[in-house]
Amino acid sequence: NPLKIVVVGSVAAGTSVAAKARRNTETARITVYERGTEISYSGCGLPYYVGGDVEQISALTPRSPAWFKARYDVDIRTGHDVVAVDAGARTISVKNLATGETFEDAYDELVLATGVSPVVPPVPGVDLPGVFTVRTPSDAAAIRAWIEDRGVTRAVVVGAGYIGLEMAEQLAHRGLGVTVVEALDHAMARMDPDMSARVDAELRRHDVDLRLATRVTGITGTPDAATGVTVEGPDGGGPDGAASVDAGVVIAAVGVRPNVDLARQVGARIGQTGAIAVDRVGRTSVDHVWAVGDVAESFHLVTGQPTWVPLGSTANKTGRIAGDAITGGRLEHRGILGTSIVRVFDLAVAQTGLTQAQAEAAGYDVEVLHNIKPDRPEYLGGKSMVIKAVADRGTGRLLGAQAIGPSGVDKRIDVLATAITFGADVADLFHLDLAYSPTYATTKDPVHYTGMALD
Ligand code: FAD
Repeated sequence: NPLKIVVVGSVAAGTSVAAKARRNTETARITVYERGTEISYSGCGLPYYVGGDVEQISALTPRSPAWFKARYDVDIRTGHDVVAVDAGARTISVKNLATGETFEDAYDELVLATGVSPVVPPVPGVDLPGVFTVRTPSDAAAIRAWIEDRGVTRAVVVGAGYIGLEMAEQLAHRGLGVTVVEALDHAMARMDPDMSARVDAELRRHDVDLRLATRVTGITGTPDAATGVTVEGPDGGGPDGAASVDAGVVIAAVGVRPNVDLARQVGARIGQTGAIAVDRVGRTSVDHVWAVGDVAESFHLVTGQPTWVPLGSTANKTGRIAGDAITGGRLEHRGILGTSIVRVFDLAVAQTGLTQAQAEAAGYDVEVLHNIKPDRPEYLGGKSMVIKAVADRGTGRLLGAQAIGPSGVDKRIDVLATAITFGADVADLFHLDLAYSPTYATTKDPVHYTGMALD
């Protein structure tokens, strides 16, 4: 009998499993169940549809089940919720959400690519119309329609992680007045405070009303529509001293939680991070059950420890690796640095590896390397970029880097991520033979300066 692969979840990781498995084998039967209606979409593009830079939502969902059938002979069943797994019998129960009917399907290998769900803040009024989370194209379409249909002019964004910041930027770009409420002391609090303070300043420079160390305690409104939020905290009053903020739309971006119900039910080990524990090819602790993408843990390339940083970049990779391993390939996941980048108005904000705080918590004797240098000569429009790297004082090994600036940050963070991946010392950075023309870089690049910091 041909191998039967069943995948649960059809966005980034699930579709990568299916595509790679099919490239390796012509004979396997591959079925993907998706409880939603949208597949293989770019979640990362959603804020830019809300902001209007992406005109049609269809641009973010270019592939249909029919496309996957024709291209990969993969059966994608949308509107089908996998409700139970019997790992002994190697069967799943699937509910067809259109008909209400439940049926069984058998598998040889089962891949959980069930992703995450946005955390809904547990405050009164959170169910009011006009309060949204951002995860799917339908969410983004509903937000844009709500704003356009009602002529909304003010927004509150709850949470200043990268999704909250992208939404704040795009809502401001549409011309809305934006308040961002963040419970922690800084926006982008994944970074060290000296770096995230620069993000705070950029938001305020663009007239975002940023309330730090402040909690949203409730959402106000009528049964038809939210009209604002109530807030509490030292900074809660904001400039005008009010403990409430008026808004015609409220975006909740306070984090995500892995969808581990099926994994728990089948007895797969859940790691300390709360995501599913997997080995380097994506196997869970239960035979013939795999987990990939946002729902699964990864390994940290610096600490070697399990870590969970749910990102599309990793979801595509781990899906491809498991799809390969299931069909006899040799790919293994080498781990992650949590490398990420986000645009916040005129700044690119990026990080890779450990922050100073994380490196200290991991027990390193930390050396901090700071520099502020233009990305190109000023005569060709170069602008200052801040790089903060951290290294192990004893060995000089690079542990992580953060970079913020108007241009050239994407290139530097990727060079630094590459260097860290291959175990570079600080001094190695100076010796990198990097591309130079004044249109793109300085003779000594900002990355070289980081490598000169200990001379
Ligand atoms: P998901 O996308 O969460 O998909 C899981 C799917 O499984 C869901 O469709 C769900 O309905 C389905 N499912 C769950 N349980 C079941 C079940 N029992 N039965 C059937 N189906 C089920 N990442 C980056 O790297 N860079 C970025 O710039 C970036 N920006 C982002 C911006 C936004 C606004 C958002 C929302 C995300 C962004 N991401 C970004 C993250 C990226 O989108 C995710 O990492 C990626 O979508 C994860 O893919 P996944 O397939 O693992 O999980």
